[in-house]
Amino acid sequence: MDREQLHHMNTVLSQKKQELEEAIGQMQNDLATMPHNLADPADQATLSTDRQLALLRQQRLLHQLHEVEQALHQLANGEYGLCEECGEEIGVPRLVACPSARLCIECQEQLERAA
Ligand SMILES: [Zn+2]
Repeated sequence: MDREQLHHMNTVLSQKKQELEEAIGQMQNDLATMPHNLADPADQATLSTDRQLALLRQQRLLHQLHEVEQALHQLANGEYGLCEECGEEIGVPRLVACPSARLCIECQEQLERAA
């Protein structure tokens, strides 16, 4: 990966990080303003489902944010773009499609087959 590509990935990842932080902030607002108790048990059931979905979504966002931050960290250390399993280059097209990828396609597929 050359300097220009690294610079591009840095821009993409920084942007992604900002988007995720905004989404998480919004989510926290939504959760904070959700009423905790409703008189009608049916409403209460809907509410707890909404709340659970929101919490799940928030967990996913936090996980994504963590991955993006890790990728930015690797980028800063010059370790970005190498497969954690085999040490080979992950490849630019894959990183463009998935900037926080940590495995090359071969290792990823192996992992998915094993799972
Ligand atoms: Zn690999």
